[in-house]
Amino acid sequence: MRDTSKHQGLRNQLANQLKEKGITDERVLEAVRKVPRHLFLNSGFEDFAYQDKAFPIGAGQTISQPYTVAFQSQLLEVQKDHKILEIGTGSGYQTAILCVMGAKVYSVERQNELFKQTSILLPKLNIRPKHLSFGDGYKGLPNHAPFDSIIVTAGAPIIPQALMAQLKIGGRLVIPLGEKHQIMTMLIRKNATQFEKHEFGEFRFVPLLENKN
Ligand code: SAH
Repeated sequence: MRDTSKHQGLRNQLANQLKEKGITDERVLEAVRKVPRHLFLNSGFEDFAYQDKAFPIGAGQTISQPYTVAFQSQLLEVQKDHKILEIGTGSGYQTAILCVMGAKVYSVERQNELFKQTSILLPKLNIRPKHLSFGDGYKGLPNHAPFDSIIVTAGAPIIPQALMAQLKIGGRLVIPLGEKHQIMTMLIRKNATQFEKHEFGEFRFVPLLENKN
């Protein structure tokens, strides 16, 4: 578990690249400068950690591309102490970015292997989400709802109704929608029944899979 000044330098460069690509939220860029992404990849792949690319993390899944993580985090307009639900913990990198931004993060992962691995990794890095759970993200976490915002980090064929129901009024749901490619979509909850929809172009994710347990 080594984090050196070389890694710090690479992170600064990555944050600069993300800025050039249009990420303007300084709190997001600051979190990118802080979270040691190389420790979220298997050792041996360190050299890839600070390239702006997705990368395999086991169980057929990927750690999202830094630009995608930054883009979704920016859409959430994270405030300190916001209660955020993440669907698809995966490597925990996105979870860590939101924690470092001061959010109270609740995250759900359906691959047991990744759930276990990430539950061990995050505390070692002194990153403490409020709650990590193993289960089906389509259902959200009704016992912990409502949330200030919800982020889905896998490509969803539909918007899960349960997630819409677990959002506070004024809250944001950021979800990549579609099968082969996804359109980054944000729903803002206006009141009990109305949601305002915004779309932000194409991204690529591994699929949000249904009911494994
Ligand atoms: N945020 C992660 C992205 C991982 S890829 C990161 O930064 O590394 C998407 C993750 O979503 C995978 O780990 C996959 O197992 C998980 N996933 C897919 N379908 C799911 C579901 N229905 N519920 C919870 N997690 C799911």
